[in-house]
Amino acid sequence: MIHLSKIYKTFKLGKEDVTILKNIDFTVESGEFVAIMGPSGSGKSTLMNILGCLDKPSTGIYQLDGTDVLASREGALADIRNQQIGFVFQTFHLLPRLSALQNVELPMIYSKVKKKERREKALEVLSKVGLSDRVSFLPTRLSGGQKQRVAIARALVNEPKFILADEPTGALDSKSSAQILQLFKELNEEGVTIIMITHDQEVADQADRVVYIRDGELLVSEKGAIPSA
Ligand code: ATP
Ligand code: MG
Repeated sequence: MIHLSKIYKTFKLGKEDVTILKNIDFTVESGEFVAIMGPSGSGKSTLMNILGCLDKPSTGIYQLDGTDVLASREGALADIRNQQIGFVFQTFHLLPRLSALQNVELPMIYSKVKKKERREKALEVLSKVGLSDRVSFLPTRLSGGQKQRVAIARALVNEPKFILADEPTGALDSKSSAQILQLFKELNEEGVTIIMITHDQEVADQADRVVYIRDGELLVSEKGAIPSA
């Protein structure tokens, strides 16, 4: 379970301090599929970076399965990021000179998995996302939807508990978007917790629950109901 309490995030802009996240309380149960919506600049990616241990809040508490993440030893954030979280981005973030297979193997090189095991695991997750026939392709020879499926395969190799997806369908046509959402639903049914930022209400409607951010404040609602600010 993820539990954020009284999270604030302030950035320095020149001489000014700008508070981007304000008093965020946010709980995500294990196994949930949550969508985050909100206007551009409202703080969605900033929140995602904190959830993903890519950045720390200015103040507040972040508990992950009961552990106080921010109070943990040096390096704990990196461990959580590498071992428990898979990231998916709008623009895929694939390395252009590496094949689909090599892109998927990359996180396992960092975590020092042996070559044979690495290859087997990469082929397994590529098969899971329906790309067994594209493993040797470079990203330039893949469609947007296929690139995103490679990125999801790469996010899956360390068997993350959570997938954090920042506009995963933002660069895709509606058919490819539907495929990515279907894949997320399957992963979620297998127990992966999914937190997905989206601008698209139809995409958000696929999640179990939608929360809204406006001007750095979280407005929580039940599925489908947009709360009045
Ligand atoms: P979009 O929908 O356009 O992706 P967003 O909701 O993800 O928007 P954020 O990327 O979280 O928005 O940015 C929120 C605000 O925080 C913006 O005004 C942005 O300029 C500011 N911001 C984000 N990161 C930094 C940073 N490292 N330093 C200073 N300001 C930042
Ligand atoms: Mg963003």
